[in-house]
Amino acid sequence: MAGEPQNDCLFCKIAAGHIPATIVRETETTVAFRDINPQAPTHILVIPKVHYENAATLAAEAPQAAADVLRETAEVAAGEKLDSYRIVFNTGSGAGQTVFHAHAHILGGRGMQWPPG
Ligand code: IMP
Repeated sequence: MAGEPQNDCLFCKIAAGHIPATIVRETETTVAFRDINPQAPTHILVIPKVHYENAATLAAEAPQAAADVLRETAEVAAGEKLDSYRIVFNTGSGAGQTVFHAHAHILGGRGMQWPPG
């Protein structure tokens, strides 16, 4: 069923506590943890506990969960004392998405280029 945990999904396993991660914050509906391959001094992922393949399907099918993820990005950034930061939702393999469970990247602690690569 839509949103249900998937046995073959890495981030579902992290959300369930079956794979270790460096958890930064957790709410009833979201988990924030440090990226294993950080691209900035602060690089944290925020995921919904429900499984949707990307931000677009999450927003369309579970808008409250999408709002929860976005709200959490601000909470995490405040907790990390980031004044400026970038939120990235890679959507589709052509855009660099490698884990097909919706997630927001929070990147901060260094200058950012525009446009992104
Ligand atoms: P994507 O490329 O936008 O899908 O982002 C997936 C992110 O998950 C990448 O930045 C990876 O470094 C990160 N990642 C993959 N496996 C793990 C893990 O086990 N713990 C934390 N982050 C992970």
